[in-house]
Amino acid sequence: MSQATESDSVREDGVIESVSGPVVTAADLDARMNDVVYVGDEGLMGEVIEIEGNLTTIQVYEETSGVGPGEPVENTGEPLSVDLGPGMLDAIYDGVQRPLDELEEKMNSAFLDRGVDAPGIDMEKTWEFTPEVEEGDEVAAGDIVGTVPETESITHKVMVPPDYEGGEVTAIESGNFTVTETVVELDNGEEISMHQEWPVRRARPSEEKRTPREPLVSGQRILDGLFPIAKGGTAAIPGPFGSGKTVTQHQLAKWADADIVVYVGCGERGNEMTEVIEDFPELEDPMTGKPLMSRTCLIANTSNMPVAARESCVYTGITIAEYFRDMGYDVALMADSTSRWAEAMREISSRLEEMPGEEGYPAYLAARLSEFYERAGKFENINGTEGSVSAIGAVSPPGGDFSEPVTQNTLRIVKTFWALDADLAERRHFPAINWNESYSLYKDQLDPWYRENVREDFPEKRQWAVDVLDEEAELQEIVQLVGKDALPEDQQLTLEVARYLREAWLQQNAFHDVDTYCEPEKIYMMLDAIKTFNDEAFNALDAGVPVDEIQNIDAAPKLNRMGVQDDYEEYIAELEDELANELREKY
Ligand code: ADP
Ligand code: MG
Repeated sequence: MSQATESDSVREDGVIESVSGPVVTAADLDARMNDVVYVGDEGLMGEVIEIEGNLTTIQVYEETSGVGPGEPVENTGEPLSVDLGPGMLDAIYDGVQRPLDELEEKMNSAFLDRGVDAPGIDMEKTWEFTPEVEEGDEVAAGDIVGTVPETESITHKVMVPPDYEGGEVTAIESGNFTVTETVVELDNGEEISMHQEWPVRRARPSEEKRTPREPLVSGQRILDGLFPIAKGGTAAIPGPFGSGKTVTQHQLAKWADADIVVYVGCGERGNEMTEVIEDFPELEDPMTGKPLMSRTCLIANTSNMPVAARESCVYTGITIAEYFRDMGYDVALMADSTSRWAEAMREISSRLEEMPGEEGYPAYLAARLSEFYERAGKFENINGTEGSVSAIGAVSPPGGDFSEPVTQNTLRIVKTFWALDADLAERRHFPAINWNESYSLYKDQLDPWYRENVREDFPEKRQWAVDVLDEEAELQEIVQLVGKDALPEDQQLTLEVARYLREAWLQQNAFHDVDTYCEPEKIYMMLDAIKTFNDEAFNALDAGVPVDEIQNIDAAPKLNRMGVQDDYEEYIAELEDELANELREKY
């Protein structure tokens, strides 16, 4: 996070009037909304969130116990901003972009102390800058002027800051520099370094938002197969405790075909975040074999960290995501969980004694959620490159009740809905995503991609699966009343086919070496095998073979082992032959 720097605005220190948890009121402070201020003798970082006459209300990003009236408040005159530049990948930040490892070092303890400031990127480290433009070239705001090999996986693009005017390059350097050193000078006097700052609550500018037409391939069958999210799309994963929100988010972080991952761990239980902080640095990027962290930025805010820093962490995350988008990358941002973020808003709002809305959440909850998801998208950037930010938020409704305000408001905004289900999780059907309740509004616009890149009839096969699962849901109601044996044979067979769709296709073990990732081709072929079973089985039934005999063929259970096959093409081709032969022998 930016440190206090000189600014043009007139600054006058204020005095604390009152303290209520993370909310501090100061008198006589000359400030604007969202200015960053330093509060009290210890200089705790805070942000102006309300101004009324002579009184300024501040949310403080650190513990405020012991801070009291009469202590000074100093305004930096700058909005809450992130430091952008090489060094963010591989980093682990708190909600206001303070690197956790550095904070620990400075304080020599695992617990965050107060009044400790640290820039978001290392200001002393040198990076090798290679120019992409020459003296005499005209550059505009956003243009890429050079590159830095930031990590093993990612080349950082150094850009003219979006709020610069741009002009003719009069000098450009090549070699090793710190992020604060000037590498490019323009004829209008503007100096460009590898460091930018950007206020977190304002979206970085873009040329145009486009309709996303490519899927963010996750390797998870139920997602890519039934409820795909687009690159630049939005998705929510609501679910009760233990239903698989975090596992799904981790699978996406590991496997989604995004260039960059921004993972915001927002206020979940302390030990869960500790696991993330310990686990992520160990993970290998399955695509490249390099460390996953070399294309990941982690923002970790546990529930024992101050509530205001939880409020800001999603903004810090999405701003970092936009910055990499500007370089032309596809970025995937996961937030686990947006409910903790909403609860932080609620707590601050109640301290402000604002008029509460539904269930005590502030009336602006819906607006804040939609502002956040609005920043996702497929973009034409101002430098002409194309990039995307996909935003995927977990929601943890108390008791798993989706009718509560955070789930409901999120549902109105996001276009992909992966509804986790306590019953499925209890039956150990994973991922416990309910196929009847979930949906993706991207399906149609992604179909051409699936036709072109997987199989021409992918959408039709998928629709067949959806229809069978729908029919199963209807038949289940009858089965509950009269039992399965009372159904006509063709309906019994439909139930059997649906069972294979659920068990062989939708179920997927995140912890199995092979099954954990399923490429689109394999998703198609597995579905195709079940369709083959369906077609051959109904032919046999039409020819008079009893349904019991059809269900008991030896080859059918092999459908359940398709997911764990490495050599799936061969396995499935053989299995399809076996299914057909065994059934045809019966008539
Ligand atoms: P939540 O974040 O919703 O509280 P988790 O993501 O921690 O729940 O999941 C709880 C448990 O469910 C996991 O520890 C794991 O045992 C199981 N689980 C969830 N998803 C899967 C999956 N795709 N494959 C296998 N096990 C899963
Ligand atoms: Mg979780």
